[in-house]
Amino acid sequence: EVFVLNGKFVDQNNAIVSAEDRGFQFGDGVYEVIRAYNGKPFCMDRHLSRMKQGLEAIRIPMPLGIKEFEKLCNEALEKSGLKEALIYIQVTRGAAPRQHIPPKGLKPTFVIIVRGTPDIPPELKEQGVKISLSPDIRWHKCYIKTVQLLPNTMAKEEAKEKGAFEAVFFRDGIITEGSSSNIFIVKGGRVFTHPANERILHGITRGVAIEIAEGLGIEVEERAFSPEELLKADEAFLTGTGTEIMPVVQVDDDIIGNGKPGHITKKIMEKFKEITNCL
Ligand code: PMP
Repeated sequence: EVFVLNGKFVDQNNAIVSAEDRGFQFGDGVYEVIRAYNGKPFCMDRHLSRMKQGLEAIRIPMPLGIKEFEKLCNEALEKSGLKEALIYIQVTRGAAPRQHIPPKGLKPTFVIIVRGTPDIPPELKEQGVKISLSPDIRWHKCYIKTVQLLPNTMAKEEAKEKGAFEAVFFRDGIITEGSSSNIFIVKGGRVFTHPANERILHGITRGVAIEIAEGLGIEVEERAFSPEELLKADEAFLTGTGTEIMPVVQVDDDIIGNGKPGHITKKIMEKFKEITNCL
């Protein structure tokens, strides 16, 4: 594991931030997770540009330029010696005596942590997973990848208690996204996913899955769907940096399609694997 604090390589014991950091006190910051395959970060440019947009949206200055972040992440990855890794980046507004309005000229705090990928049992990708529906109690700027993840962590924990791999949110009769993933359904040979608006995180893997599907000549519609449509779907799958592409075969007590990973899902998974294997 490699830790970088404000641009300096430190050991874990010295990767310490102030008790008055606004990330700690207010959740005032954003993060990114980039996956490396075969020692090479996947879609790093897209992740860093999403981070830049998120920082702009909450008016935190970028502590480093995109190119410098790229260089530092690559250096940290190399130092870790890991070929398969997750690169976690967090940027917060910085430390200041606690008050809602941040003082001008704060220096952002930023951390990079590189560690191994989560071990998701391969059977899950082969057999598909169960998901559990959960009311989406989040705010209306879900496109900003903030560190305020309490609704997400709570929903995920409840899902786990129900034996589900992921919690999937619904709001106003519409399925939005997972607690740490985006969701797609397949119906009549066409692929549907929630539009990239303020109600979801515009997942990088979501974008890649759409491109893959279109490249395979499969029609993709960025259109919201209801929980009922999800239950009646032929296929469903999740996308995410950690999750990659994961078939969904059960939603709470209901089975999706024939209870096995769908044919279009498998085609998209195969292509995703091919792309990431070739990095
Ligand atoms: N939605 C949410 C709420 C997430 O936290 C994540 C993963 N961080 C995603 C979707 C998937 O995004 P990505 O493909 O960029 O990892």
